[in-house]
Amino acid sequence: MPVIKEDPVILTTDILSFIRPISHCHFCGYGLTQKFIEGRSRLYCEACDIPIYQNPVPATCVVVIDEQDRLLLVKRSVAPKIGEWCLPGGFIELNEGPRESALRELKEETGLTGAVEHLLGVSSNPSAQYSTILMVGYLVRCFSGNLIAGDDAADAGWFSTHERPPIAFDSHRQFVSHFYGKFKQR
Ligand SMILES: [Zn+2]
Repeated sequence: MPVIKEDPVILTTDILSFIRPISHCHFCGYGLTQKFIEGRSRLYCEACDIPIYQNPVPATCVVVIDEQDRLLLVKRSVAPKIGEWCLPGGFIELNEGPRESALRELKEETGLTGAVEHLLGVSSNPSAQYSTILMVGYLVRCFSGNLIAGDDAADAGWFSTHERPPIAFDSHRQFVSHFYGKFKQR
């Protein structure tokens, strides 16, 4: 099975300039310092006497394919990349699993109720807002309902390969290429 290519996550200067530095402890409000812990310099709260760990933020997206082999895309109505097209998806809530999150976002953004066929892959990508996003991609080919754009989608539509608009996020493009590269030949 082809594997999603996993490049190192490189935070370029344009992305780093967007990231707002964390200056205070979110538990006690004390000003944070830096301390070398477990192999790297980390934010540290002297009052709580704990490191403030920073990790990738987990999100999901779905490659939804209809019977005519068209791809479902949504047009973004919120930053970043307002007005650009991407896969339905979003951030995982604290009380839900990744599959549940993916299907919830699909429902919210397109009105469709879907079932996950299988995992397409997992990738890490730089983000101006969150530094690094861990993106989980699923394949959905079984779904029901009427297509209605909602939540943070301004529009939603089906696109064949030759009429598809540019896709806003690298991780989404990877999952789409992965799907059409692997499954189209069968
Ligand atoms: Zn603290």
